[in-house]
This record gives sequence, structure tokens and C-alpha cells, in this order.
Amino acid sequence: MTARPFLPYGRQTIEDDDVQAVADALRGDFLTTGPTVAAFEAAVAEKVGAAHAVAASNGTATLHMAMMALGVGEGDVCITPSVTFLATANCARYVGAEVVFADVDPDSGLMTPESLAEALKRAGGRRVRAVLPVHLRGDVADLPALKALADEAGAVLVEDAPHALGSTAVFGDQTTTVGDCRWSAMASFSFHPVKTIATGEGGMLTTNNADLAAKLRTLRSHGMTRPAGAEPWVYEMAEPGFNYRLPDINCALGLSQLAKLDRFAERRRALTARYETLLPSLAPIVRLASSPTHSRSVLHLLTALIDFSAAGVSRAQVVARLAEQGIGSQVHYIPVHTQPYYRQRYGNLDLPGAHAWYDRCLTLPLFPGMADEDVERVVEALKVALA
Ligand SMILES: *Cc1c(COP(=O)(O)O)cnc(C)c1O
Repeated sequence: MTARPFLPYGRQTIEDDDVQAVADALRGDFLTTGPTVAAFEAAVAEKVGAAHAVAASNGTATLHMAMMALGVGEGDVCITPSVTFLATANCARYVGAEVVFADVDPDSGLMTPESLAEALKRAGGRRVRAVLPVHLRGDVADLPALKALADEAGAVLVEDAPHALGSTAVFGDQTTTVGDCRWSAMASFSFHPVKTIATGEGGMLTTNNADLAAKLRTLRSHGMTRPAGAEPWVYEMAEPGFNYRLPDINCALGLSQLAKLDRFAERRRALTARYETLLPSLAPIVRLASSPTHSRSVLHLLTALIDFSAAGVSRAQVVARLAEQGIGSQVHYIPVHTQPYYRQRYGNLDLPGAHAWYDRCLTLPLFPGMADEDVERVVEALKVALA
């Protein structure tokens, strides 16, 4: 019997035409700050239905720039769900703002209107400037309800959407595509290799606000502007920015990948449906995380919620037994409020939904290059691992 290849929990899909697109960019006149950047930005804006898109070197950089463009700073508060990647919270700290961690629904991992309302109470009288919902796994948060609460508090929504490129949602009679910013000031994407499309490292902000887009472009490149009518060598800096530019090489890959988004999304949906058929055989020990009814999700992460104590095995044992059978798994995420840095800053918070999510969650393989049979293989391996 030949050993079957290891199945990671996520993996990029790079095809010959992607390789060709990068090779063409390498032979072109611009390795960075060239026309492919604007072309990739325009393609993303069109795909998600936003007026503007601004590329950046990674998703974390987009979040940092978003905070700066909004003028968030010391004395301000940002609210993020605790179940997310570190960067969602850290971007507030980069600009000196404080983080109030919202709890999440224990079965979807999402910040809800109820958990946001509770977090707003904990913010006390402080000035809440931004609320950062995360479309965890590709499930769309309840944007209209979150926006209504943010409005009341005088804050804006910034969607942290790296998991949700391609997801849509239906709110009443309105269908929204994640990134169209119908309820938010900006939406942030990442093109890290495990995300839905890959550029190596890379990120993008979308917005419908031309002033914000212009600020983001300035911040992305050292805060430099060229005054109208000035000599060609003249640049001015009103505020220090960064080098957060995304090279043309990466944008060429992004353009090529974006053209495949619909196919990737369809494949993710088909594999998710297969998991939905097969995983119930492991109930009630194993359940799938639940998607809100308004969400038409393209899942980035396939999350099983496992009752490890009822199974009589630890998560570490299950992860190790899956690995022995050639199956990768991961945990998304350790609640950010429990990180030493945030614990030291804000003390031990009791966020029962986040803890209940964390105690049970395990991410199983899901990526477009998987075969249908790979899902059977994962479910069988999980059965063995839990036995
Ligand atoms: C990937 C990710 C980021 C950061 O993106 P990078 O491109 O890795 O910097 C931020 N938030 C969430 C929820 C992510 O999944």
C-alpha cells in the first residue's frame, strides 16, 4: 500500500497559469508600484461590489492602516470578538487604543448583537471608535444589527473579513457580498496561502468612501503625497506612513487567483456539503459549527465542535492520532483575551461563549484541491481518533 499524502487543514491551489502570471510579472517593467497593483485592486473592488480597494502587504497591515485612516488613537476603545486571530485586536494597540473583547456565540464563534451590546456596556463611558466584527470561518456576522448598535455608540464598523472572500448574506430583502461595505466603513482581506485566494503575503481593504481610500493609499507609502502642480521630484509628508505596499509580482498572482474564486468557492461548498452528510455519523460527540441562517457562507475553515470529555480523549490526543493517520488539524482560535499580553493588561475576563467555543473546536481539512474521497478519509480518521 502506498502512503497517502498528508492532508493539511488548508492549502493554496496554484496552477500553471498562476505560475505563468507571476513569470510574466517578473519579466515586466514593474516589480512593484506598477499597473498590476491598480488592476488587482480594481478586480477585487468589482468582485465584491465596493467603490474602492486598496492593496497592502498583508492583512495585518490593512487593519493597522484602517485604524490610522479613521484617526483611532489613545483614549479610544475598539471592540473585537475574542475568538479571532491576534491581529484583529492588535491593530487597536498599534495606534494606542484599548481593546474591549466581545464574547461570541458558542456554536458559531461569531460576535452577536447581544455580545456586542454587552461589550459596549463594559466599555463604560469611554469613546468607542471602531467595532471589528470577524466573519469567522466565512460565516457572515449580523452586519445590520451590529451596525445599528455601533451607530448608537458613535462607532463605525470595520469588517475583518479574511475568511469570507466570496461569502454573501441575505438580510431582509437585501443580499450583500462580504466586502461591499454596505454596513461598514471598510472591510479587510488577507491573501495568506491558507485563505481563499493566495498571493503569498498580501491584503486588501475595500471601502465606498473616497476620502478613506485616498488616506489609505497615502499611509501605505510613507504618508507621501505629491502636491498638484509641484515640480516632479517634490513630495510632502503630513503624517508618517509605512511601506505597506504589495508588489506587482504578488498582485499578478492575485489577479490570476481571483479569476478562480467562483470555482474555488464552489469546490469549498461541495466539500462542506460532504462533511455535512458524513459527520453526523459521529454525533453527538462531534457536531459541525453552526452558520447563521442569513449567511450564504463560503467556508474558509471546516470546524468540528467536539465533546472531548464525553469521548474520553483530550484534544491533544485527537490531534496526534489524526496526524498519525496523515490528517492535519488546527485550532481557530485561542481566545485572544487569554493571551499573556492582554491578560496582563485587562485581567482575566469571563467570556463563557469564547471558552465554550475554544474547548470544543477543531479545524479539519478543507481546501479546493481536496478530492471528495478525502472527506471520507478525514471522517474515518476522526472516528478512529475518538475511539
Ligand atoms: C489571516 C487573518 C488576519 C491577518 O492576515 P495576515 O495577512 O496574515 O496579516 C487577520 N484576521 C484574521 C481573522 C485572519 O484570519
